[in-house]
Amino acid sequence: EADTDPEEENMDDPPLAGVNVMNVIVVAAECAPWSKTGGLGDVAGALPKALARRGHRVMVVVPRYGNYAEPKDTGTCFIQLLSYFGVQDMEVSYFHSYIDGVDFVFVDHPVFQHQENNIYGGNRPDILKRMILFCKAAVEVPWHVPCGGVCYGDGNLAFIANDWHTALLPVYLKAYYRDKGLMKYARSVLVIHNIAHQGRGPVEDFFHLDLPEKYMDLFTLYDPIGGDHFNIFAAGLKTADRVVTVSHGYAWELKTSQGGWGLHGIINDSDWKFRGIVNGIDIKDWNPELDAALQKELGLPVRRNVPVIGFIGRLDHQKGVDLIAEAMPWMVAQDVQLVMLGTGRPDLEEMLRKFERENHDKVRGWVGFSVKMAHRITAGADILLMPSRFEPCGLNQLYAMKYGTVPVVHAVGGLRDTVVPFDPFKETGYGWTFERAESGMLVHALGNCLNTYWNHKKSWEGLRTRGMTQDLSWDNAAKHYEEVLVAAKYQW
Ligand code: ADP
Repeated sequence: EADTDPEEENMDDPPLAGVNVMNVIVVAAECAPWSKTGGLGDVAGALPKALARRGHRVMVVVPRYGNYAEPKDTGTCFIQLLSYFGVQDMEVSYFHSYIDGVDFVFVDHPVFQHQENNIYGGNRPDILKRMILFCKAAVEVPWHVPCGGVCYGDGNLAFIANDWHTALLPVYLKAYYRDKGLMKYARSVLVIHNIAHQGRGPVEDFFHLDLPEKYMDLFTLYDPIGGDHFNIFAAGLKTADRVVTVSHGYAWELKTSQGGWGLHGIINDSDWKFRGIVNGIDIKDWNPELDAALQKELGLPVRRNVPVIGFIGRLDHQKGVDLIAEAMPWMVAQDVQLVMLGTGRPDLEEMLRKFERENHDKVRGWVGFSVKMAHRITAGADILLMPSRFEPCGLNQLYAMKYGTVPVVHAVGGLRDTVVPFDPFKETGYGWTFERAESGMLVHALGNCLNTYWNHKKSWEGLRTRGMTQDLSWDNAAKHYEEVLVAAKYQW
């Protein structure tokens, strides 16, 4: 008898089975389609489904910002909340829905109500209060929320927390449970989607957390300009059993003083538990078959051979919209159309409107948050611009490639990982990259891209086809997350 079964050999990393099946609880401040301000919402909506497809029991815990239709109230429980906010016990209820193999659990409390357009807004004490309450509620979920009749409990349990908003979760898990010999084998992974926001504040903020004083050092970070300050992300990174970030490029940048935003020291010290995993995309949600007549819809002249250049993103310094502004005179002098969609800084929103006013036959500047329009632009544009100054992973370039829209990007973070530059001699690569966040470099790359669009149709079609046929699904990334969760299990 042959000792290798050919069929088994062909199975590329089969799902784990038996004792290795895990209970995974993903905790995030936003989750698409219910709540989304950016990439985190997409990740929280899609990664859990991919982990569930690998055979795990998977839950997402997210605040209930609105009166969502599907999830049902599953009862209430009491959570001890710090006295600083004037209340000792707070009642939190949980709503539950089982969709695509995943338990979605929504934490309900008045502080979250009607916050869907203000997830990270409000004054600092309010945001802190929301995130503290949310993390405390999330740690309790495995004990209180019956999913399909049975609570998860702590058997082979792993939490995946995301960004500073839920970086308190690993700390509460340790302080409230593990220090007391409870939930001993429950582990926590903290994912860095964006290091620029850290939950910083004055050192006294620590006393709002309801933690023993010996924990204070974890939260105290020295900064040469401001001196000692309070930093939630720092504490989470130190306490989590494993740390993941959303690309290899960003993993590297986070270890540098420029890219680590003050946390590079902690990240370097945590190197043994740190790993980069590139995000996938939800190929059910982002499906190019649902194409659109973008020019017509936006009232631009409908012309077949004019390239449509798109931009989608938060209007802030990170996304480099100002570089597009600097390149605007050059762009409008070309035979192109430009469609931009975004919300954010009021001055940049006004700039988008101004671009449109001044170049009505060529430019549309759509100020607003519209998932439908984001899909339309991704589908209808020929080229997608992403001049981000930094970009932990970036999802729009992935959606673009899936849709046959060619990305032109600043080679940074996840953009460097995912947009392999076009090589005209070998006919390889997916788009154009430029090395520094400068408008001149953007113009140069875009110029080369347009030249290929106009003069080298075969290369252009090759670029599009290679982009569209890549495996960008979450399945691959989910396997890597699984490795991280398993590694954390066997560390004791
Ligand atoms: P970030 O998380 O830094 O905002 P990503 O590229 O990771 O950037 O993810 C952005 C996500 O948010 C994408 O799904 C993108 O389509 C979406 N998005 C950004 N701005 C808008 C907008 N104005 N309207 C609709 N969707 C948007």
